[in-house]
Amino acid sequence: MTGYDAVVVGGGLVGSAAAYHLARAGEETLLVDRYDDGRATDAGAGIVFPPTSSRTESPEWFALALEAADYYPELAEAIGERGGAYARTGLLSVAVDPEEVPDFERERSRSRRRAEEYGRPRPDRTAEVSPERARELYPPLGDVERAIHYEDGARVDGRAFARALREAGREAGLTVERGDVTDVRVVGGVVRGVDTVDGASHDAEAVLIAGGAWSSAFGAALGIEVPVEPQRGQILHLDVGEADRPSGEWPILKAFRHQYQVPWPDGRVACGATREAGSGFDPRITLDGLREVSTEALRMAPGLAGARHVESRVGLRPVSPDGLPILGPVPSVEGAFVATGHGPTGLTLGPYSGKVVAQVLRGVEPAASLASFGVDRF
Ligand SMILES: Cc1cc2nc3c(=O)[nH]c(=O)nc-3n(C[C@H](O)[C@H](O)[C@H](O)COP(=O)(O)OP(=O)(O)OC[C@H]3O[C@@H](n4cnc5c(N)ncnc54)[C@H](O)[C@@H]3O)c2cc1C
Repeated sequence: MTGYDAVVVGGGLVGSAAAYHLARAGEETLLVDRYDDGRATDAGAGIVFPPTSSRTESPEWFALALEAADYYPELAEAIGERGGAYARTGLLSVAVDPEEVPDFERERSRSRRRAEEYGRPRPDRTAEVSPERARELYPPLGDVERAIHYEDGARVDGRAFARALREAGREAGLTVERGDVTDVRVVGGVVRGVDTVDGASHDAEAVLIAGGAWSSAFGAALGIEVPVEPQRGQILHLDVGEADRPSGEWPILKAFRHQYQVPWPDGRVACGATREAGSGFDPRITLDGLREVSTEALRMAPGLAGARHVESRVGLRPVSPDGLPILGPVPSVEGAFVATGHGPTGLTLGPYSGKVVAQVLRGVEPAASLASFGVDRF
């Protein structure tokens, strides 16, 4: 039997970030991860750019997402992440067909409104560009009607960034274990620790559930509902080959049918992704999913037709009923905390959510208010 200040359940980007921040603050911390197939962090495309997001009109979400995106460069520096897992490469938003022009116009007005209200996207780093200029920036692009270039668009390799966080956490004393947490022990309304499937028991003063789409399994132990559902996302990785790449880096490309392309310096382009509500815990790659993704990839960028297929990935996004993350303490159980429900934007929010939840767990003033994201709102 061992005793910890905190146990974090789940080592995706959210759990890894929380565990890193706890360990850095001097808390004796254990991170237990089951490495499920379908771990969202490993499949995520990695777009980090809230200003073009249309997923929610919640001002609280937008404010949190902007702070989260701004936190990335500082955190990457702090953990010595020098492998290029995070970079600002710009984002190109295009209307491919005339039917997409109204959506393009809507995005343009939303961006202007957000720029006035929040200063983002920064007007001096945002410009409508000609279709020819768009193709210079992204050579496989086909004919487009309209295009906007946002210079501040950024991308992250979630898998590599989460690994770097765990490694930096280890240097600060974090213990990382592969394991399956089966129960949170609660006695008299107070957390005592966790049990794992192999019969191990870890005493702890606090437990943070950061199990992504699997977090709902802990509702019974905590006497609450953690209403997250898995939403499957399939994404394919192409290799355009070194010879075809320009010397600079291509921006992220997005159009208006909920799909996008994220280029990487090694010649990969990740094209995704499906959004399959009701998929259950079934991380399978389907022919239908690949068809959907590849059809849209070629519609946006016909120049990718000869690219080599490298791999396809699949992840289960943890989705909450109102689309907002679930962050903070479990009011009825002292020492219990939750960080999940990040849905399609967990790579953007994850590191900052982890930081803020770690602060709340430690009882220090959090960098952001979590009042709108509590589990008790359901
Ligand atoms: C195809 C796709 C594209 C995406 N694109 C983007 C994007 O461009 N930008 C963006 O911001 N976000 C994106 N996302 C969303 C983002 O990936 C997720 O929101 C985020 O990764 C969720 O992180 P998480 O740590 O909560 O969950 P996960 O990464 O799923 O990690 C949860 C971990 O908890 C572990 N676990 C669960 N239960 C237990 C237990 N009982 N014991 C031990 N371990 C347990 C699991 O094994 C898993 O390792 C995308 C997602 C997908 C699938």
